[in-house]
Amino acid sequence: MKIVVITLVVLLAGIDGFIHYLLTKKPKHIDQRTYEVYDKKTYQKWDAYNKEKSKLSVINKGILFLILITMLILNLHFEIYHWLEGFSYDTYTQNAYFFLIVTIIPLPIVITFDYIRIFKIEEKYGFNTQTKKLFIKDKLIETITWLVLETGIVIGLYSIYEETEGLFVLFGLIVAFLFMTLTLIIFPIMSKLYNKFSPLEEGSLKASIHDLLKSTNSKVSKVLVMNASKRSKKMNAYFTGIGKRRRIVLYDTTIEGLEESEIVAVLAHELGHAKHKDIVKMLPLSFLSIGLIIILLGVFAGFKPLSTAFGFSDSNFVFSFIILFELFEIMMILIKVPQNKWIRSMEYKADQYAVTVHDKASFTSALIKLSKINLTDLNPHPLIVTLLYDHPTLFQRIDHIGENHG
Ligand SMILES: [Zn+2]
Repeated sequence: MKIVVITLVVLLAGIDGFIHYLLTKKPKHIDQRTYEVYDKKTYQKWDAYNKEKSKLSVINKGILFLILITMLILNLHFEIYHWLEGFSYDTYTQNAYFFLIVTIIPLPIVITFDYIRIFKIEEKYGFNTQTKKLFIKDKLIETITWLVLETGIVIGLYSIYEETEGLFVLFGLIVAFLFMTLTLIIFPIMSKLYNKFSPLEEGSLKASIHDLLKSTNSKVSKVLVMNASKRSKKMNAYFTGIGKRRRIVLYDTTIEGLEESEIVAVLAHELGHAKHKDIVKMLPLSFLSIGLIIILLGVFAGFKPLSTAFGFSDSNFVFSFIILFELFEIMMILIKVPQNKWIRSMEYKADQYAVTVHDKASFTSALIKLSKINLTDLNPHPLIVTLLYDHPTLFQRIDHIGENHG
């Protein structure tokens, strides 16, 4: 059993390495329109940025892989669990600490690499605008929230497993569903911890947005501006909330970087998503992956050989969870292929909506400006698009608009 798990972990690392290789590989055919978006110099800058980022990510993942493999080979998970036994906690507390420790071990590495990425690479290419103080504040909030949340979820699942015996999958699915509904409410609250939101000031932009909302018969409670420039120069806009609480969030960087008509075009695209109810459609999708892990957990949590192969004397729920979660990534890659394809088709439809209710020229130029400022890869390997992209590439989008609105 041990050899099976370790082989799968190695296989996963191999797939990851291959994906990174494809990410940095320059395609044979570069779309000539690339040089209309980026001048040669910017394109070289993009290429260098992309390579550095990928290299850093490979080293980061490599170290994390070595830690995991060492822990598995030496049965260190069991050693930690065994060490905690000495404190004679009750089972739940012992498992909670066990999960916490295992989760905390890779954190210093992850945070250090994040720091290097932002303050060495993003800084060098002129993306970063955040201060080190802000970085530390963000990381503290993020780390503590996630540790509490994750430990809570795992221990919650564990107690359901212990209390309900054979009905774990059923109860687990119910809890997962409730939790997902909760995140929809939590997300706007969470983002308030990180960012400031202020109403869009009166003026011609606000008037144009209201015209768009009126002409498309859309109900939105508020249009907010988020101070994204505090962290990065990257631009974005999104819809959030459901029903009456639906609001538009515009990054202040977007307002700075785009013409009025282009901003309205970006919003029209987002409005397309809202009109097509894409957020609601996505819910069963995210539920599918959570549901799958719960079903697998139901099957494998009591599977004794998985735990005993790594030193435990009996099946251990938390350990099974940790292993399954590592291996789940392989499956996620496969699940994501049809999922991303579907999401990309939603993007085409939202693009089409934007062009219909607003205009083609300003939407196209907005897309180009967004790609340019975000240093998007304009010629990714087709396999990378299939595997990873939840948005079509810039030229795919432009071609698609052209075909339908020639
Ligand atoms: Zn979209």
